[in-house]
Amino acid sequence: MPNIKLTSYGASQEVTGSCHLLNINGFRILVDCGLFQGGSKNYLKNWDNILFSARDIDVVILTHAHLDHCGRLPVLYKNGYKGKIYATGPTIKLAKIVLEDNLQIMTEKSIKQNLTPLYSSTDLMKTNISWIKADYYQKIELGQGISFTFNNAGHILGSATAKIEVDGKSIVFSGDIGGHNMPLVKDIDYIDKADWVVCESTYGDRVHEDLADRDKKLIDAVKRVTLNNSTLLITIFAIERTQDILKVLNDYYETHLDFKVPVYLDSPMAAEATKIYKEEIKYLNEDAQDTLKRDNDIFRFPHLKITNHSRESKKINSVPPPKIILAGSGMVEGGRMLHHFGRYLSDKNNHVLFMGYQVPGTLGNKVLSGAFDFDYYGRKVPVKAGVDQIDGFSAHADKNALLDWLGHFQNPKKILLSHGDDKVLEKFSQSIKEKLGYESQVIEFAEPIVLS
Ligand SMILES: [Zn+2]
Repeated sequence: MPNIKLTSYGASQEVTGSCHLLNINGFRILVDCGLFQGGSKNYLKNWDNILFSARDIDVVILTHAHLDHCGRLPVLYKNGYKGKIYATGPTIKLAKIVLEDNLQIMTEKSIKQNLTPLYSSTDLMKTNISWIKADYYQKIELGQGISFTFNNAGHILGSATAKIEVDGKSIVFSGDIGGHNMPLVKDIDYIDKADWVVCESTYGDRVHEDLADRDKKLIDAVKRVTLNNSTLLITIFAIERTQDILKVLNDYYETHLDFKVPVYLDSPMAAEATKIYKEEIKYLNEDAQDTLKRDNDIFRFPHLKITNHSRESKKINSVPPPKIILAGSGMVEGGRMLHHFGRYLSDKNNHVLFMGYQVPGTLGNKVLSGAFDFDYYGRKVPVKAGVDQIDGFSAHADKNALLDWLGHFQNPKKILLSHGDDKVLEKFSQSIKEKLGYESQVIEFAEPIVLS
């Protein structure tokens, strides 16, 4: 019987900073090493010393390229890790741009707050020469009789669940999972055998609106800008949600040629990520591939303008309404959207649409929760614009999809819950017990769990 111990150093009773250390007979596998996000208190946790020895890690497996899963990888190299990082091909491409973008943002924030940057460009370079591509369904031998296999997670391009096996025992890490019939990525793969499942719980207490409703909500908001002669701000996350939104807008603009409101994709990172989606077509689902055969660019349509340079971004300001601006960061903790908030939120004609979960402590969360004003570089800006949220563009599975995926495991010994707010974890744990009859446990920060 192998000795297996799991200790999590992030995304334990919270939704960011994913970092799970699996010790199998002394062989140490780290699954994900993400950034803590959401408000300055949480963000500062990234500067805490890591509570395990990076030098002693044998291998790292990355489930997908979101910053809260990959953002602290360079910190491992800074702390002496010299090994490899396994990920799918699209994840490697996306993680490179995510980490490069973060280096710049993190360095700027560090200088402002008198902190030593979390990592340097040298640490990032060490990270970038350590990637090893592992394709879906390819069993990779790690040594000492331990192996792992990636399956589709249905979350973002390249996202995977990781199944780690040793001596007939297995543990599956969900990473982040999506549902079925996602607009672009392939469906999540069901897995029938595992002794333990580490499962994300972000939306463990909620059911998303269906895809047709969310698309209609978006198009209604788009149409409203002409009626009000106003500006619509759409907060975006660079990967997956942006491409989903562009596809919906593409379908609308290409079938409504008289609709001429300009759309600005004001995010160089989102534009870069979109290029990778086009390069990695074989990882998209059949529907998306079919559409691509008819419309050779499902992410580009009349009146879409991509503004790469900041001087182009500033010029958007002088374009009269109506206009639509897509920009990040997704929770408005910085990035170009913060400047657009400063310019447009004081006008009651304008509108802001939040595309997904806003972590408490972020400006996105404050505005969505009804803040009267916010601080923009020392100036109070009143929030008079209309504020709305569309949940359905989340790439995360909702409660039903999470239970559906978990329900396909045959008699797992235990479900270990991560990546969720405290109240959500409690409710989701209850749902697992009631609907599936499985035993579950909420993972606590840095508390080892002996599995066998
Ligand atoms: Zn994710």
